[in-house]
Amino acid sequence: MPINESDVKWIEPPRMGLLERLYLPAIWQGLQTTVKHMFGPKVTVQFPEQRPVMPPNYRGVHRLNRDEKGRVKCVACYMCSTACPARCIDIVAAPAPADWTDREKYPAVFVIDELRCIYCGMCEQACPCDAIELTSLYDLTGLSREEMMFDKEKLLSVFDQTVKMGTDPVRTRSGPLSIASDPPPPGQPPPEGLEGSRG
Ligand code: SF4
Ligand code: SF4
Repeated sequence: MPINESDVKWIEPPRMGLLERLYLPAIWQGLQTTVKHMFGPKVTVQFPEQRPVMPPNYRGVHRLNRDEKGRVKCVACYMCSTACPARCIDIVAAPAPADWTDREKYPAVFVIDELRCIYCGMCEQACPCDAIELTSLYDLTGLSREEMMFDKEKLLSVFDQTVKMGTDPVRTRSGPLSIASDPPPPGQPPPEGLEGSRG
């Protein structure tokens, strides 16, 4: 539908004074910013010799959490893959082993395409049993696309690695703020079952 001529509002460009036409105020403002950063705190680091400390809510490489018996916590409910906007989680559910009496299903296959992922954290927010979390690992590299397809074993190994490193304690917890990206409130004890899952 064409726009009515009476709805069009014409705006005159602001007139520049002599100083502005010489760009002197803009140059002065730019120099002020440069000098401010010269004497301000440095935020760059000499990577990889220096490693930045990521904030607790940083969303890096995924991991699949283990329960207190060391089993994968996931119950193959597909909530994460349904919530994922990038459609990069592939799950194949299977009946849980007979001695896993606390659940009906488990993920026979669980693959995340780390190259397709946009690290939004929707999967960990959707998970009803805190089985998937994004960690502080950020230096994700690989020589092929296949290497960047993280399967269940790889995701469980990220759990073992990050919990052992101490950089990523299990952050998910029950309650209304059960979101892995949120740092736990000060003084809150680790979630139940964490100690048994630390290899
Ligand atoms: S972080 Fe976002 S894009 Fe990546 S797997 Fe989770 S939901 Fe999908
Ligand atoms: S939402 Fe959680 S329990 Fe459900 S399939 Fe994903 S990781 Fe597993």
